[in-house]
Amino acid sequence: MTGPIEIVRTVADLRARVAGWHADGETVAMVPTMGAIHDGHMALVRQARTLADRVVASIFVNPLQFGQNEDFNAYPRGEARDAALLAEAGAVLLFAPNAAEMYPDGFATTVHVGGLTDGLCGTSRPTHFDGVATVVAKLLLQCGPDVAIFGEKDYQQLLVIKRLVRDLDIPVEIVGGAIVRENDGLALSSRNAYLSAKEREAAPLLHTAIRQAAAEVAAGQTIELALESARAAIEAAGFRIDYLEVRDPKTLELLSGTVGEARILVAAFLGKTRLIDNVPVPPQA
Ligand code: AMP
Repeated sequence: MTGPIEIVRTVADLRARVAGWHADGETVAMVPTMGAIHDGHMALVRQARTLADRVVASIFVNPLQFGQNEDFNAYPRGEARDAALLAEAGAVLLFAPNAAEMYPDGFATTVHVGGLTDGLCGTSRPTHFDGVATVVAKLLLQCGPDVAIFGEKDYQQLLVIKRLVRDLDIPVEIVGGAIVRENDGLALSSRNAYLSAKEREAAPLLHTAIRQAAAEVAAGQTIELALESARAAIEAAGFRIDYLEVRDPKTLELLSGTVGEARILVAAFLGKTRLIDNVPVPPQA
């Protein structure tokens, strides 16, 4: 469905729209984003359309989830273009609050999800998941959707949000969306815009290497040997690896030896740009 999209900037307006739909017996899906909309976000909106009558997208570049030396100021922003793409994918309402609406003077609450946030991105970005959990808890409570969609691209984040919702009894179903990739395998990301032409050429190797490792582990190779080859290939392509690990797909427990089901997760810098990706074991067809 393509139609106009209404933009609201206050929690009160958001609540009024959603309450109206619920009063009419309609279901509501939410797709939170930080903008810089690409096909990955649009796929989540399309998926949301299949799950609910109305889709609300949000755009908020959340300062709390960026570290001090990260790219909060440089993060790409362009609301008019983003709103048009979200409308094209089928969203009817865009919640785009400013920082004062989200974090009014005196704001003093942090949501911390334990356990799942300990390794992977939680190690290299120590304040990141508190920022994510806090803003996602707020967005879900502000909107009150029946279902909310988050991408598997941020696999650890998806599990953290499922845990958060269960632990705080937030009445919403969390659904994961498959990773949307370029033809050469590079996962779509707003941060791909930072890559130079030469870096962009090297970038798909990250996915190729973890997919290869997933195939090897699925064929009975040990995790240690499969990761050794993947690490060498990723470094040879010019990346500096932040982490490259094989974990339990539900608990994120670190795995070793031979396994049946798992998730391979990687974060690596290409120049100044940090890219993340993940694939299942066994690999998808
Ligand atoms: P972001 O705007 O980067 O915070 O992402 C907003 C939502 O889109 C998150 O749930 C992400 O996991 C999801 N997302 C980002 N990139 C992709 C992608 N390539 N495929 C699927 N979902 C994605």
